[in-house]
Amino acid sequence: METIVIEGQNGNSTIIVDERIEEVAKYLPKKKLFIITDKNVENHYATVFPEAPFFSINPGEASKQLGYIESIYRWLLENNAHRNSFILGIGGGVVCDIAGFVASTYMRGVEFGFVSTSLLSQVDASVGGKNGVDLDGYKNIIGTINQPRFVLCDPRLLKTLPHEELVNGFAEMVKHALISDVKLFEHLEYDCNDLLQLNQRILSSHIAESIRIKARVVTADERESGIRKLLNFGHTWGHAVETLTGISHGKAVSIGMEFACRLSMKKGLISNREYLRVINLLQSFGLPTCMNIEPNKVFNVLEKDKKRNANSIDFVLLRGIGVPKIETMDFEELKKFVQNNNDET
Ligand code: NAD
Ligand code: ZN
Repeated sequence: METIVIEGQNGNSTIIVDERIEEVAKYLPKKKLFIITDKNVENHYATVFPEAPFFSINPGEASKQLGYIESIYRWLLENNAHRNSFILGIGGGVVCDIAGFVASTYMRGVEFGFVSTSLLSQVDASVGGKNGVDLDGYKNIIGTINQPRFVLCDPRLLKTLPHEELVNGFAEMVKHALISDVKLFEHLEYDCNDLLQLNQRILSSHIAESIRIKARVVTADERESGIRKLLNFGHTWGHAVETLTGISHGKAVSIGMEFACRLSMKKGLISNREYLRVINLLQSFGLPTCMNIEPNKVFNVLEKDKKRNANSIDFVLLRGIGVPKIETMDFEELKKFVQNNNDET
């Protein structure tokens, strides 16, 4: 078991890796408890939930709508939740985002924690204190930055996670290695098969490593004014691909990472060999590195990115595996690159 601490402006968050869900009661304060979960997680694990009333959302992003979340506030009110209650989210990134948002806003904020049940949520969504919900198709447009008191990551729970969802998490793990640690990248190359087979010891160690990277970045820059931007590696192009095609987040980010590496290679920042190593690792995890879509169409979506500047956009590139570089890319230059490099992304 390992613990990693994030020091946030509104308090610390302790992430506990390789602890069993059955032990969660140890981490709960002596407060009235309310659980938020989703129907899949409920079906698999309700028998090991701590004793408390729970609200089970329909699984998936559609439940992250601000309108839907009103029903959770009403449920809390009807069940006499008060300022001194504690909200526990048990689920993937959707549940953690909702639970964190509801807890941060109900009665101006009650304490909360997570049992993170998907790989993406263990290594990414439940780490860092961002709690966002969607409005009118805009993802995470309403939200708070507020750290959970604790996050429990039990890798055994991943045995019931659909493979497609597991792969989404691997994309973020590769991203964390690429932006900060060549040794970890080598370990991923070496351990890829064991990770895909859910070898619990190796999985735990990689989850902890990956969380440590995100925790370090977030502790240095909780509000994304500087180095937190590095976490956008692969996401700038990836989000545009996701919006355009509706493919899963991890797959889109994988395509985005290929794009960022190709751009880095074109700029002479990384070698062809390094580029191919990244592609190989992504493909070994079953992630796509190209897709049959018109790159110009992706570019048109990218131009509408909410994080753009007037005539440019900040791109995270690589100067080497594990060595990121934020580069402000002029839209004109980017357009030329997109048009001159392959017909499909
Ligand atoms: P998710 O919560 O929808 O979970 C994916 C699917 O797996 C769901 O159907 C869920 O019911 C199921 N599931 C979860 N755990 C399971 C388990 N142990 N066994 C069986 N089924 C299980 O999606 P996700 O990929 O975990 O998270 C994506 C969400 O996270 C998005 O809404 C995204 O915006 C958000 N996110 C937030 C942050 C942040 O910093 N707050 C960062 C990244 C992503
Ligand atoms: Zn992501």
